[in-house]
Amino acid sequence: MEKQVFFEEYPCWIVLLANAVSLAVYALGAFLMFRLGVLWLLAYLLCVIVLEARVLKKSCVNCCYYGKTCAFGKGRLAALFFSRGNPKSFAKRQVSWKDVAPDFLIFVIPVAVGAWFLIQAFDWVLLGAIVLLLLLGFAGNAFVRGSLACKHCAQRRIGCPAEKMFSKKK
Ligand code: SF4
Repeated sequence: MEKQVFFEEYPCWIVLLANAVSLAVYALGAFLMFRLGVLWLLAYLLCVIVLEARVLKKSCVNCCYYGKTCAFGKGRLAALFFSRGNPKSFAKRQVSWKDVAPDFLIFVIPVAVGAWFLIQAFDWVLLGAIVLLLLLGFAGNAFVRGSLACKHCAQRRIGCPAEKMFSKKK
């Protein structure tokens, strides 16, 4: 059986790779939303900021990586902007599909927008952006979480409702 390794602080290359995937998803999402106009692009970017800030404020402040380097570097970011929460509440939090839906919608909506434009007029660049966004949104995120982030996460050992939900543990 493979020995589990939990990081006290994640190595920089994981933080860089995890953020590269997230930033690529947001950049492709912004590129596709821009097809609707500048206002839609700005609305999309605002949603990204709200989504990220929500994670920092609601989850990261209670995580054992608060003030430390987690797989996404958010433990350190959270400590910069928000005060420490209650570490005991992290594992107790109820997480449902409704809570994680925004994480999917942030790339599914741009994909739908891109597909709509693609139906109007075929465009290889548009098709490439849609395919890449789908790959990064599903496979890229799954790889980052499954093979890099959650796999070595000390908070998972203590208890993480999101990880439990995705791995369907009871
Ligand atoms: S187990 Fe995964 S989802 Fe849970 S805190 Fe760790 S990295 Fe985040």
